[in-house]
Amino acid sequence: MSRSEPVEASNFIRNIVDKDVAAGKNDGQVVTRFPPEPNGYLHIGHAKSICLNFGIAGRYNGRCNLRFDDTNPERESEEYVNAIKQDVSWLGFEWNELRHASDYFDDLYEFARDLIRQDKAYVDSSTAEEVREMRGSLTEPGTPSPYRDRSIEENLDLFQRMKDGEFNDGEHILRAKIDMASGNINMRDPTLYRIRKVHHVRTGDKWSIYPMYDYTHCVSDAIEGITHSLCTLEFEDHRPLYDWVLDQLKTSCHPQQIEFARLSLEYTMLSKRRIIQLVEDKHVHGWDDPRMPTIIGMRRRGYTAASLRDFCERIGITKNDAWIEMAVLETCIRDQLNKEAPRRMAVLDPIKVTITDLPEGHEQMFSFANHPQDESAGTREVPFTREVFIDRDDFAEVPPPKYQRLVPGREVRLRGSYVIKCEEIIKDETGKVLELRCTHDPDTLGKKPEGRKVKGVIHWVSAVHGIPAQVRLYNPLFTLPDPAKADSLEAAINPESEIVLNSCVIEPALQQAESEQHFQFERIGYFVADRYDHTAASPVFNRTVTLRDTWAK
Ligand code: ATP
Ligand code: MG
Repeated sequence: MSRSEPVEASNFIRNIVDKDVAAGKNDGQVVTRFPPEPNGYLHIGHAKSICLNFGIAGRYNGRCNLRFDDTNPERESEEYVNAIKQDVSWLGFEWNELRHASDYFDDLYEFARDLIRQDKAYVDSSTAEEVREMRGSLTEPGTPSPYRDRSIEENLDLFQRMKDGEFNDGEHILRAKIDMASGNINMRDPTLYRIRKVHHVRTGDKWSIYPMYDYTHCVSDAIEGITHSLCTLEFEDHRPLYDWVLDQLKTSCHPQQIEFARLSLEYTMLSKRRIIQLVEDKHVHGWDDPRMPTIIGMRRRGYTAASLRDFCERIGITKNDAWIEMAVLETCIRDQLNKEAPRRMAVLDPIKVTITDLPEGHEQMFSFANHPQDESAGTREVPFTREVFIDRDDFAEVPPPKYQRLVPGREVRLRGSYVIKCEEIIKDETGKVLELRCTHDPDTLGKKPEGRKVKGVIHWVSAVHGIPAQVRLYNPLFTLPDPAKADSLEAAINPESEIVLNSCVIEPALQQAESEQHFQFERIGYFVADRYDHTAASPVFNRTVTLRDTWAK
C-alpha cells in the first residue's frame, strides 16, 4: 500500500451508518462519543477508537462527544483527564461536548429508583463472596439471592440509606432483577450500584454509592442522544444488558451498540493496567517514554498525528481480532517523513578522517538540497574541512563481501564532496581505530573520477564545525510478539530497547532544530528533536524509525 493512493480500508461500521443515514434513521443524524476512563494515559488502541468515533461523526457532519467515564474514583485523576484531552486534540479531533459520567449521577440515581419502583432492581445484602457463588457458571445457572424478593418500599428505603452513607463499603449492592438462569452471565442480576465511601474529583463527598460501568454507560449514551455506541468486542455479551436497561427506562433515545475488534499490536502491550506496571516498575522512564505505545510516548518518539490517523485508516475496522505487525505502523510514519522530513548529515559513532593533501585550515562551503525530490524545501550550506568525521560502520579494515564503503587502499565518495582514498590507519594500543589518513582527488567534485569507478558514497560531518549531540536509538520494548505470553513482564523486556549515544556529531544546520522537528539523517533513519530534552546548546534526537523496514527479515 502506498501512501499516495487514498486507502479506503474495510470498515463495516461505516457501511452500517451509511445505510442508517440513507434510511433516515435518527432523522439522518449521527452522534458518537469517545468514552475513556481517566485511569491512565491513552495508547494507540485508543487512537483506533478515537479515529473511528470522530471519523464517523465527521463523515456525516455529525457530533462526537468526549466523555470521561469517571465512575471509579479510586483509580482516576485529573492528571489523566488533562492528558487525555491533550492527546485527543493533538490527534487532530475536536469534541462537540466535554462530558463526564459523573454529570449524570443524579439522573442515574433517579433512574435506579425508577427501576426499583418497577420491581426491576433490588438491594442485595449478601457478601461479595456469596454473590459470586450465587452467580453460577457458564454451565450452571445462578441461584436467586435470598434478598431478591424484598418489597419495593424496603428497596427504596435501603437504597436511599446507601446513598446517605449509612452503610459501609460492601454491606449492600443494588442489583438489576433480570434472570438468574440466563445463559448470559451478564444478565444474572448484574450489580448496578456499590457502596464506595471515597472522594470523587468532581462530585466531592456527595456520593457514597457509585454506579457500575454497564449501567452508567448505556444511560449516559441515551442522555447524550448518541445514535451509534461503538465499543470493542468484549462488550458484545453486555449488549443485552445495555438494551435491557434502556428498554426498562423507556428512554427516548436508544443508541445502537456496535462492537469492533480491539487493536493488538505486535511487540507491545495495549492495556492501561500493564502500561501502568511498566511505569511503576521503572522498565521505562515514564508514560511518555519514546518506547511506549502511549500516544504521548509515540509523539515523543516522532510519530506524527497524521501518521497515527493514517495507521488507523489502513488497519480498518472489523469484527475479527487480529494482531497487527509493527511494520504496518512504521510504514505509515516512514512514508510521511520520506516525503516531508528535511535531510541532514549526522555521524553517530565518529572516526576522524584527515585529508592529508588539503592544506591546514582548508574550508569550503557546499550547498546541499534539503530534500532530493522537493525543490521547494530549499538548500543549506554544509561546511567541508580538512578533518571530517565518518561513521565507524563506514570503514572496514577487512571488508566483508560487496562492502562499498571505506577500506584501506580503496576509494569512496564523501557525499556531495570529493572522492577520498584511505592511505593509513591510526589505532590506539587496544587496536581501536582512532583516525584514518586519506588523500582526495580534487577532480571529483560534482563529477565522476577519471578512468575508474568508485561505487560507495558515505556521509560525513566537518570535525571543525560539527556539533556534539546525544542520539537515542529505540528498538521494540519487548522481545516477543505477544509479551503477555512471557513468564513475567521482566522476562519479555528487550535489554536493547533504548541505546543512548553520547558522542554523536551533527552538521551545523541542525543547530537550528526546534523541539519536535523531524529530520532524515541520511543513510541512518528518521529522527526527531526530543520534545523535552533538546536545546540548541545540547541537542538530543530520538530515532523514530529506521530508513528501511527491518522487520522484513
Ligand atoms: P485498557 O484495557 O487499556 O484499560 P479500556 O478499554 O479499559 O482500555 P477505556 O478508557 O475504557 O479503556 O477505553 C475507552 C475506549 O477506547 C473504549 O471504547 C475502548 O473500547 C477503546 N479501546 C481501548 N483499548 C482499545 C484497543 N486496543 N483497540 C481499540 N479500541 C480500544
Ligand atoms: Mg476500561
